Amino acid sequence: MSELDLKHIASGKVRDIYEVDDEHLLFVTSDRISAYDYILDTPIPDKGAVLTALSTWWFEQLADVVPNHLVAVDDERIPVSVRGRSMLVRRLSMVPVECVARGYLTGSGLKEYNAAGNVCGVPLPAGLVDGSELPQPIFTPATKAEIGDHDENVSFEHVASVHGEALASELRDVTLRVYERGLQIARRNGVIVADTKLEFGHDSQGRLVLADEVLTPDSSRFWPASQYEPGRSQPSYDKQYVRDWLTGPSGWDGASQPPALPEVVVAATRAKYVEAYERITGLRFADWLAHFAG
Ligand code: ATP
Ligand code: MG
Repeated sequence: MSELDLKHIASGKVRDIYEVDDEHLLFVTSDRISAYDYILDTPIPDKGAVLTALSTWWFEQLADVVPNHLVAVDDERIPVSVRGRSMLVRRLSMVPVECVARGYLTGSGLKEYNAAGNVCGVPLPAGLVDGSELPQPIFTPATKAEIGDHDENVSFEHVASVHGEALASELRDVTLRVYERGLQIARRNGVIVADTKLEFGHDSQGRLVLADEVLTPDSSRFWPASQYEPGRSQPSYDKQYVRDWLTGPSGWDGASQPPALPEVVVAATRAKYVEAYERITGLRFADWLAHFAG
């Protein structure tokens, strides 16, 4: 796996991580796409660069809310072959909690609400439907699953019992602050951030640092505000084409490695990722690519 001249440390569904030195990692985002907890055989061209560009932009927007792990995207320590889809990051001791904030009800939150009237132990008013805006954003943590497994929603109390009340409260407060800022900025550009998942780590001084990716189509549900209509599933800027094709025309059985994606699904998905970046940031993705092409 290590085409780079660096020690390979780990690979997730989407990223490959290498050691640069004791304090720094190379965080390479691939074009791999996952759906229904499978890593698909077909990559989406430029997806890794879009996710890197978008996270980089958000880290800057959020710098006054929380410190983050990004050191540089443009650095001679980053091998030329992966520039544009890689970050030099601070190596952190990761907190194994998926910190999810939701401002709208859908997905696993909706499922829990329909079954129990609450999400991760947070009570919600009656009468909410798919896509409803919540009275206020809520923190709905999950425990991180191994590749191939679902993350499992847990209560705040569960996080507090495992990691302590102080850290649990800090995770909740920072997650909600990041989400609220993200929602506010994206909304100005016509995008609703329905929910998002953050990951944090501690640096060598014990400070809580925002890590991983932030407010991307892989970690968030982005809905075009102009088409928002509660009571149905919302069109979104993410893997919708992939999911729709897999559960519809592909003939996939849902229980084995999914089939290769057709070219038209690949192209439509790439376009959605690029559109999300350009919509939210107001920047051109071609400029990002050109910057690293030289
Ligand atoms: P998913 O994002 O769907 O949960 P994944 O967990 O398999 O997928 P990837 O996004 O492919 O993960 O890989 C990123 C990995 O790197 C995660 O395990 C994440 O916790 C870890 N990570 C992120 N930032 C840092 C950091 N600064 N230091 C150490 N590890 C990090
Ligand atoms: Mg990840």
